[in-house]
Amino acid sequence: MTKKLIVLGYFLCSMITIAQTYKPVDTADYIQRKAFLKNFEGNNEVTVKRLKSQYSGKTGTELSKIYKEFGTDFEKQVKNKDFIFKSEFEASIHSMIQRLKKNNPKVPQDLKILIAKDNTPNAYCLADGTFVINMGLYSWLNNEEQIAAVIAHELGHKIEEHSLKTFLKIIQQDELDKVVVDNIKSTTTSRSHSQNQKAFDILKNRVYKKGVERRQSEMQADSLGYAIFKNSDFKKAEFVNALQRLQDFDTISPRALKVETYKKLFNLPQQAFNEKWMKKEDFSLYNYNFYKEKLNKDSLASHPEISRRIEMLKKTFAELKTPADPEKPTDLFVALKKTARMEILPNYFHSEDYGLGIYTAMQFLQDEEEEKYYKSWLGKCFSKIYEARKNYNLNRYLDRIEPKNQSESYQQFLNFMWNLSLDEIKNIADFYQANETLAKVN
Ligand SMILES: [Zn+2]
Repeated sequence: MTKKLIVLGYFLCSMITIAQTYKPVDTADYIQRKAFLKNFEGNNEVTVKRLKSQYSGKTGTELSKIYKEFGTDFEKQVKNKDFIFKSEFEASIHSMIQRLKKNNPKVPQDLKILIAKDNTPNAYCLADGTFVINMGLYSWLNNEEQIAAVIAHELGHKIEEHSLKTFLKIIQQDELDKVVVDNIKSTTTSRSHSQNQKAFDILKNRVYKKGVERRQSEMQADSLGYAIFKNSDFKKAEFVNALQRLQDFDTISPRALKVETYKKLFNLPQQAFNEKWMKKEDFSLYNYNFYKEKLNKDSLASHPEISRRIEMLKKTFAELKTPADPEKPTDLFVALKKTARMEILPNYFHSEDYGLGIYTAMQFLQDEEEEKYYKSWLGKCFSKIYEARKNYNLNRYLDRIEPKNQSESYQQFLNFMWNLSLDEIKNIADFYQANETLAKVN
């Protein structure tokens, strides 16, 4: 009884605190976006022209084609509001970059910062000096020093001009076949945002196709990045801590969903929970152990390269040999981390990953975190799933079951989702959306 009261008390508290304190990230940044685009277009043109005069013949032509394509693709992402301007993250990143610039004349002076509505802990730097920082870095890493470590690593790539070198290699080896370019063209003009994202990734992956070269440039970026990091006033050990933390990351959180969570969330007054929803497709043909190994190898989670990179750093720099606990984060970092965590669902919704959004909301709800907030996102995502199902394009927003590539919990979830009928989906969407309307009236 007492326990129940405590839980209820906590629930009410969190409802109140969230209603009062959480203000979603501002996306009404039309003016800043327009200014950025104008600038970016101009800068990219300059880059394209410079490359064309720097490299003669076919190399110049191909290079300018790649950078033009990249530019157009990136502009599309900006127009699609994949990035936020004027956010509280910016001040934090600016101060980190200032610290990195100190004692490091090699760091480009004219970096422009963009925050991406992307939950993966990643960052990258474009040819014109636009530095993209994913929000996911804040929700995943432990402190600002670790984010600075990732930025320093990316600066290493930038200073060494790794992408340009890789492009040159591809062109020289005549590997840039028409297929890739056509592929990008056809996907970037499609309606789905997640497909846009993929087009961008195709080229990026293509660039990093070669394992050995990639590993070499990663290690080079690590050494140079660490040198930059060391010259600044950051805690040295955090460079390795950041890598360690990134090694543990997985696109889909491994927190398994319990059957009780499904029952708790989908046993509705108008629609009782149906055990049949949990029925799993028979994939007994597959040998799970075999695929488990493959899964580990492929997922970002246990990037086998990362452990090798850590080893290499420790070998090269004696001071990194002794492990150290992560530093205590600053209050500002804690606040930004909370924002990034609260933006996980809006980000999935923005990228039209409605299935993944539902799965993640259910994980948060299983942990009884911010119940009102995640229930409202559950409603929003389910209504999109309903529309998609009605229009026969659910495939676009909800993964197919692939036993080789997915955890058992995620497969169970996908089975559940694909088992629901159109009406059942509608009832769930209506229930959680009605909940939200009620809350708004109150
Ligand atoms: Zn890298």
